[in-house]
Amino acid sequence: MADCIFCKIVAGEVPCTKVLEDPVCLVFMDISPISPGHTLLIPKKHYESMMEMPAGDAAHMGGHLPALAAAVKAAAGAEALNVLQNNGRAAGQAVAHLHIHLIPRWAGDGLGFRWPAKAADPAALARQAEAIRQRLGA
Ligand code: AMP
Ligand code: ZN
Repeated sequence: MADCIFCKIVAGEVPCTKVLEDPVCLVFMDISPISPGHTLLIPKKHYESMMEMPAGDAAHMGGHLPALAAAVKAAAGAEALNVLQNNGRAAGQAVAHLHIHLIPRWAGDGLGFRWPAKAADPAALARQAEAIRQRLGA
């Protein structure tokens, strides 16, 4: 994608602080970290969001996550770690090339986490589960 900053990083046209790469994916440091050690895992191919990525590439990327998450957390000396992946502007996606954030966390780091849990109507939960199952063809 001509105008995509992450495609330019993959092509070597824009620099990055690389952690590792393989034929499918690239890992580099976020240029504007929200915590020290904030790292990004991206596919080399341009997929705008998780919904466009073939299952094989998703499996490959996911295979990196356990070791990568442990390494990012340990290297930062962090207490905890968020794995975050935004799909679409309304979900906070600014760069339209799929990426997975690995964000080291500490108690009291001030980043916070909004999770406004509410009581749910069991009938609504059942309808939602059925709607998801239908779309999965399950
Ligand atoms: P998101 O809001 O999920 O789309 O996150 C995009 C992330 O990409 C942000 O954390 C940015 O700081 C990061 N980012 C944008 N441009 C670059 C770049 N050239 N190198 C490294 N990280 C970048
Ligand atoms: Zn791209």
